[in-house]
Amino acid sequence: MQADFILHNCANVIAIYPGSFDPITLGHLDIIERGCRLFEQVIVAVLRNPNKTPLFTVQERIAQIRQATMHLSNVEVDGFHGLTVNYAQMRQAQVLIRGLRALSDFEVELQMAHTNKTLSNQIETVFLATSNEYSFLSSSQVKEIARFGGSIDHLVPPHVAIEIYRCHAKKPT
Ligand code: ADP
Repeated sequence: MQADFILHNCANVIAIYPGSFDPITLGHLDIIERGCRLFEQVIVAVLRNPNKTPLFTVQERIAQIRQATMHLSNVEVDGFHGLTVNYAQMRQAQVLIRGLRALSDFEVELQMAHTNKTLSNQIETVFLATSNEYSFLSSSQVKEIARFGGSIDHLVPPHVAIEIYRCHAKKPT
């Protein structure tokens, strides 16, 4: 009954899933798939962050995420810069989705959620706990493994693994 109530009320909700996604991992994809079951539409929003030197450009990351989410009918992939709440308001979204892996994520994410709440009272942050198998997975870990020639096939979608191997010009056998 309670779950029905929640799902009913989320039915018309547009959710933004913001992040760097440099690159998208199976952990991100798991959160996107679960978000799609909860909300009417999920907009995966790739942040243009001038303070970071990414492995992939925003356009490359958008293309990677589009290919990884082709099986989901209610996903849109976009790029944005500036404040996430401003982007969410512009897209008429009511929810921000964030994934939680460990206690360390929780502290940072809670602080960000509180800050966002002070900027816009209309937007709620919803945390989805990572699935067990992805609880230690991060984009930076994937890049580190690939850099030293390790296999990342079990951590990212196949087309993303190919692009990372190509970047490092080091495809393991
Ligand atoms: P950011 O730079 O905004 O943290 P990321 O691409 O690293 O961007 O992560 C985007 C969101 O996805 C964050 O909420 C992060 O906690 C979540 N996330 C990252 N990896 C995982 C994972 N393996 N399982 C669940 N959530 C994850």
